[in-house]
Amino acid sequence: MAQEDIFKKLVAHCKEYGYVFQSSEVYDGLSAVYDYGQYGVELKNNIKKYWWDSMVLLHENVVGLDSAIFMHPTIWKASGHVDAFNDPLIDNKDSKKRYRADVLIEEQLAKIEEKINKEIGKAQKRFGDAFDEQQFRETNPRVLANQKKYEELHTRFAKALNDNDLQELKQIIVDQEIACPVSGTRNWTDVRQFNLMFATEMGSTSDGAMKVFLRPETAQGIFVNYLNVQKSGRMKIPFGIAQIGKAFRNEIVARQFIFRMREFEQMEMQFFVRPGTELDWFEKWKSIRMKWHQALGFGEENYRFHEHEKLAHYANAAVDVEYKFPFGFKEVEGIHSRTDFDLSQHEKYSGRKIRYFDPELNESYVPFVVETSIGVDRMFLQVISAAYCEEELEKDSRVVLKLPPVLAPVKLAVMPLVKKDGLPEKAREIIDKLKFDFNCQYDEKDSIGKRYRRQDAIGTPFCVTVDHQTTQDNTVTIRYRDSMEQERVAITELGKIIGGKVSMRNLFEKL
Ligand code: ATP
Repeated sequence: MAQEDIFKKLVAHCKEYGYVFQSSEVYDGLSAVYDYGQYGVELKNNIKKYWWDSMVLLHENVVGLDSAIFMHPTIWKASGHVDAFNDPLIDNKDSKKRYRADVLIEEQLAKIEEKINKEIGKAQKRFGDAFDEQQFRETNPRVLANQKKYEELHTRFAKALNDNDLQELKQIIVDQEIACPVSGTRNWTDVRQFNLMFATEMGSTSDGAMKVFLRPETAQGIFVNYLNVQKSGRMKIPFGIAQIGKAFRNEIVARQFIFRMREFEQMEMQFFVRPGTELDWFEKWKSIRMKWHQALGFGEENYRFHEHEKLAHYANAAVDVEYKFPFGFKEVEGIHSRTDFDLSQHEKYSGRKIRYFDPELNESYVPFVVETSIGVDRMFLQVISAAYCEEELEKDSRVVLKLPPVLAPVKLAVMPLVKKDGLPEKAREIIDKLKFDFNCQYDEKDSIGKRYRRQDAIGTPFCVTVDHQTTQDNTVTIRYRDSMEQERVAITELGKIIGGKVSMRNLFEKL
């Protein structure tokens, strides 16, 4: 099945099984805003816990923070967001659809890359074990031609971005003959800059109201609290501050479900270091974060680092962690070396000293910062796209969410085989014992087969069935979601079996 069709099915599945709903759906929806349903919120909370604990629990020198969404408007002037938090937009005059010019060009690059990969894939099949990819890349004329095309376009694109040359971005789109996916035409407007921040007014009187912004990133809340945390926590450099919270961006193009939203959540950690050591720390955090992703077990080949074409105004190094979504490799997380830009700007605009006295060097300085920044919702989409699986079985088929048990919203379903003979009461007894440790669900409706399918669809890793034998010897069958194997075990063993699989410790030990 085409990857696009799988993605459509995944979106429908998220709605049908209470993971993600379109916001304000009864009023025909609000574009690029989503609500999380009964299972979605659990998965989201588990992702957040995995991130939070891996930062704050496992690193002695990383502490948490929860800063407000509203902040003094000068913060956004100082950070550069008022003047430079823009995306280049372009409209197709026929379809009236709006696009990000940089994304159109990135997609063109991805297409060329895909052609190269297809060629390699074909050759791999033809030559089997004898295939030498490097040699093929260096000698095959079609691959070489496409590689040249890729490099030329990439260089031209990076230069246009770095020079902020909007005319050149348009010219690239024209020269590459990029067409609007909706109208199919190349009838484009000029490229314009578009600021992504939402603004509102604070205050009760119209003349005294102050224009405030909804934060487009949580990081600034950390920067302006740097001194508070450092002093009150007597923190010594290097140390980090982690925060999870909502961010808002008036995205020009908000398609692809929860990949790009106007209201979303970020998990950000700013790590304050001695000037001159930031690039070493940048490398360290790159590796820590990649391990965090790969510990989930979705296949190392599905992740890669992507260097930025253009460094943000505050950065001296930046890389994205990309995951292979059904619509291609895309960013899940950004790791940035933000220099001393933000703290210095806040010093300048606030008139306060924001420094660290380093007792080892016996001097004060503005710390440098390495940031790790990941979207909760994008991570959610990554997890659910990796977990979604359609399986053909001997007699029928099933849709199963192969979520890592640690992240699964419901850990176990307890099912009486029939609704009589004391079996429901026995099932309830089991839940009453296990509910303190695990999110349990009771299910007695429909045949056992149907109940298993329902639990597969929401990703429950364990189903426990209570039958007549249970009333005699206190044993139950436990059925494993992925293998569908069943085992007879004592009720007293359940806590241990399930606990061993769903504990966050399993992931933390891999980090
Ligand atoms: P993009 O290039 O995709 O617009 P970005 O480089 O602007 O993203 P950052 O500012 O680095 O993104 O934000 C850090 C992380 O926050 C991203 O890696 C992503 O996971 C998440 N994120 C950013 N914008 C959105 C959004 N509109 N919707 C959902 N998640 C987002």
